[in-house]
Amino acid sequence: MSIEEHHRVVIVGAGLGGIGAAVQLLRRGISDLVIVEAAGSPGGTWRANSYPGCQCDIPSNFYSLSFAPNPTWSTTFPLQPEIKRYIEDVTVRLDLEKHIRYNTELLDARWDDAESQWRLVTSAGSLRADVLILAMGFLTEPSVPAIEGLGDFRGEIFHSARWNHEVDLTGRNVAVVGTGASAVQLIPEIADRVGHLDVYQRTPAWVLPHPNRRVTNAERWLFRRLPITQKLSRGLVYTVSETRHAMLTRAGLLNRAGRAVGRVNIRRAVRDRELADRLTPRYELGCKRVLLSNRYYPALARPQVSVVSDSVVGATATGLVSGSGEERPADVVIFATGFTITHRADLGRIHGRDGADLSSSFAANGAYLGVTAAGFPNLFCLAGPTSGVGHTSFLFMIESQQSYVADIVAAMGSRSIGTVEVRRESQSAYFDKIQSDTAKKVWFSGCSSWFLDEQGRNVAVWPGYAWSFRRRTRRFDEEAYRTTVATAAGRAAREEAVDRQ
Ligand code: NAP
Repeated sequence: MSIEEHHRVVIVGAGLGGIGAAVQLLRRGISDLVIVEAAGSPGGTWRANSYPGCQCDIPSNFYSLSFAPNPTWSTTFPLQPEIKRYIEDVTVRLDLEKHIRYNTELLDARWDDAESQWRLVTSAGSLRADVLILAMGFLTEPSVPAIEGLGDFRGEIFHSARWNHEVDLTGRNVAVVGTGASAVQLIPEIADRVGHLDVYQRTPAWVLPHPNRRVTNAERWLFRRLPITQKLSRGLVYTVSETRHAMLTRAGLLNRAGRAVGRVNIRRAVRDRELADRLTPRYELGCKRVLLSNRYYPALARPQVSVVSDSVVGATATGLVSGSGEERPADVVIFATGFTITHRADLGRIHGRDGADLSSSFAANGAYLGVTAAGFPNLFCLAGPTSGVGHTSFLFMIESQQSYVADIVAAMGSRSIGTVEVRRESQSAYFDKIQSDTAKKVWFSGCSSWFLDEQGRNVAVWPGYAWSFRRRTRRFDEEAYRTTVATAAGRAAREEAVDRQ
């Protein structure tokens, strides 16, 4: 890359977010785009998370790009390697490889007000962009609790999202810290291999039966020969997911029914009543993300597995210390302790008009439609604050944002708009509405979750139905933005870019 390299659009991240954004831009005739990707292959979260049992908990006929169906899924909820292969395949099939720069990590991004451009520093050189699209994912930065003495621990330590495949767990004393979505998937995979497994459970999760099944040859044949059948299947999953919204966000009959199913799931696997009681959550279904597994509770009931109902507060050279002061030996510690939501280091490298960093801005004010923030012109984030979901496919939300952003970028070109920046008042009104809609939800029913920040504000999830988010993002709502006319210099640079193609 030369110091002067300039592109109409730079996208950061070659996961499903970045790839889908590129497709939407290309469809609108915007082809001067580059995707910078820190890793050596595409996949995003589905490349980074490779722990045993890693699986999407939304059926893949729905959790896949709407314009790139895969008629050959092996099961309705495939494992991570199959989803990663799908993303790699889509990247090749849609001829996106030529736009991607692998092993290119974004180190710094700064808005240049004089030039109306983003100046980017990457591990492979500098470049400039009129428009910056962040597709770095949402749950990406592993969070490890600050534990006293952890530096003294002499065994192996790693996080579920950075699985160390070199470490052989066979016959070893293993501790898994956390009982969220990642832990529930990985524990059944390792429970029979280890010598002893301590599962540190601070708060139990609601875990419902998993409906996964093999996709039959007949279904695959139909999906290939009559693609409309796969579309119908997708539509059905979408509809069923939307009906889960009421159950998972509001107290009431449906929520009680879901909890009853959760209790049956525990009791049919765990005979020990005391353990069953410790595994039963005391809050409403949906307060934390609801998990799916048929193998988690049977794994916890194995004789070589202990559920330590406590947090981890310390470590010694040979083990962990629980909140009650008990020291328990461990050779390997696996942190399944989730991700940093606010104050992310990668977002801290992005500086807007006044030098403010995006991480602090998101933490303070969220983002308009999870996409834009005042003070950050021509910057669009996918899967940003308050666009996550617990009841349906996050990818549906991201696809809504991809079209929305591509429409704005296309309008910038066709109408000679130089800069687009959300109005501070639009962003505040949006954030306030999110908070008032959140107040009625089950997320305050006695649990802590990544849905809420330390002040109890929702900085993570869209509180409504997914269709209402699709409706909000269906057009460029220009009235929410401040726009400026493109300068002659900016127009010349764009024309030059078009000439180069
Ligand atoms: P998580 O749901 O945030 O769970 C973190 C766990 O670590 C919680 O059980 C938490 O306990 C525990 N913890 C944190 N600090 C601790 C300490 N000092 N001592 C003991 N326990 C501690 O994280 P995750 O399981 O990685 O999942 C994060 C999100 O990723 C999910 O909600 C989901 O959206 C996504 N995910 C999705 C899939 C999928 O199937 N699509 C799979 C994996 C992950 P508390 O509950 O008490 O805080």
